[in-house]
Amino acid sequence: MYEGAVQDLIDELGRLPGVGPKSAQRIAFHLLSAESADVSRLVAALVRVQEEVRFCVTCYNVAEAEQCKICRDPRRTDDVLCVVEEPKDVVAIERTREFRGRYHVLGGAISPIDGVGPDDLRVKELMTRLMNGAVTELIIATDPNLEGEATAAYLARLVSPMGLAVSRLASGLPVGGDLEYADEVTLGRAFEGRRRIDA
Ligand SMILES: [Zn+2]
Repeated sequence: MYEGAVQDLIDELGRLPGVGPKSAQRIAFHLLSAESADVSRLVAALVRVQEEVRFCVTCYNVAEAEQCKICRDPRRTDDVLCVVEEPKDVVAIERTREFRGRYHVLGGAISPIDGVGPDDLRVKELMTRLMNGAVTELIIATDPNLEGEATAAYLARLVSPMGLAVSRLASGLPVGGDLEYADEVTLGRAFEGRRRIDA
């Protein structure tokens, strides 16, 4: 549609999640007319994220050191572990201020349609963490949709011989949705009202 650099930018923006062709075009033209300092800041942020951000060696949250802030925090308890799909879910739960334990980020959810099975997620790493015996309660906070529920059921069955208390967030979360879209109060309540699941 456009020539060279402009079209390349539109194509790249269009590859981002949630950005359709129209939005890609709008963002591209916004950037074309933006102050050069603003564009430079955006470029610098992209470069920094690529160079400096990595995944925590313990929980697989995003981190700027070997371990993330949460794993490094000595004030948090080691006996409760909350399993989530993505780092953005950690942020959503942290916003509620209901949870003072640690996290484990799976990197997605089981989805046979998309060809994602347990081996594609950090399930083995979760089991290794649970083996050392420090964790007594596992809270499964996968998304309240088909894939999230399937993942929760799978994990509950998998860990059942370990004798942990396993719980799932209470209902009240928007069904079929994504954890990050729940407001803080709703998510906080779902956390407080979590229910034991017996596999
Ligand atoms: Zn961590």
